[in-house]
Amino acid sequence: MDTLPWINPARATALLDALESRILVLDGAMGTMIQQHELVEADYRGERFAQGHDALFAAEGHVHGAGCGCEGHDQRGNNDLLTLTRPDIIRDIHAQYLVAGADLIETNTFNSTSVSLADYRLQHLVRELNREGARLARAACDDAEAADPSKPRFVVGVLGPTSRTASLSPDVNRPGFRAITFDELRDAYREATEGLIEGGADVVMVETVFDTLNAKAALFAIEETFEAHGARLPVMISGTITDASGRTLSGQTAEAFWYSLRHVDPLAIGLNCALGAKELRQHVDALAQVADAYITTHPNAGLPNAFGGYDETPEDMAVVLGEFARSGLVNVVGGCCGTTPAHIQAIAVAVAGVTPRSRPALEQAA
Ligand SMILES: [Zn+2]
Ligand SMILES: [Zn+2]
Repeated sequence: MDTLPWINPARATALLDALESRILVLDGAMGTMIQQHELVEADYRGERFAQGHDALFAAEGHVHGAGCGCEGHDQRGNNDLLTLTRPDIIRDIHAQYLVAGADLIETNTFNSTSVSLADYRLQHLVRELNREGARLARAACDDAEAADPSKPRFVVGVLGPTSRTASLSPDVNRPGFRAITFDELRDAYREATEGLIEGGADVVMVETVFDTLNAKAALFAIEETFEAHGARLPVMISGTITDASGRTLSGQTAEAFWYSLRHVDPLAIGLNCALGAKELRQHVDALAQVADAYITTHPNAGLPNAFGGYDETPEDMAVVLGEFARSGLVNVVGGCCGTTPAHIQAIAVAVAGVTPRSRPALEQAA
């Protein structure tokens, strides 16, 4: 896929130049920021979804109306839906991260796949949520760029892992069972990728990968989408080490994770979520030694406490990620669960002026 031209050559070149010249800062958590608004069901639904279903969409031949029989579904917690029902909140969160110093803004599309949206019976919204999610982030980035043209800001179109695993059974009594197939995931990711491109994303990121087979389906779908467009965007991949064993849920070390995905020639590979920066260090180091892609990391604000919250302060995280930077481990740093604009600001200060990791010259296959 690296033979295709860029969809937007000027944006791609600006990103590559920025990566060569400094350590870039990715934004922090969206969920943590949304939580602070203490939204209720009516906020999530807005007018369009007031009945718990989409007033603008019905199965063929059906018209919604009083007593039409359509059941509503609770939407509270469907954070991606806020892109449509509370775009003011999502755009403001993007803006806060930009003010904090983020170069890269992630779209509010972590669950905008048909697989995840089915939990809310809104799977028909995939294209729209990805397109509008990218547009909101694009608008926020364009505003920040207009205010300071010397600092380009990039929209990272996010493709989340979905709640299902293609290589593992959710049922201990039926190890051969799969809740989802590769082709179902591939179709889901294809539609989401189309929306992200349509909305103006600069990059697509396959994020929080806990099952490498899910990521392969996403990357396959991305490649198909690029081929259909005859042009591509830079691709980033970020995996998740799920526990102290130092492996992903599908059992891979960071190194194995890289070797299973390097064939797609990603712009960047990294690790995010599940662990704090301290616990992630050895795994980021392992990636940095083997990968000839740029290295990204966006850890949680520490390990979850007894209440499921995160305790690491902006200063705590900045100290640890500042050391990653000075040790030459990283090209992009940011935050995942529990991080806020204050964390991103402290991290941005800690890595400012530090030389970015240079990619090792690896033996090239003939
Ligand atoms: Zn109806
Ligand atoms: Zn996280």
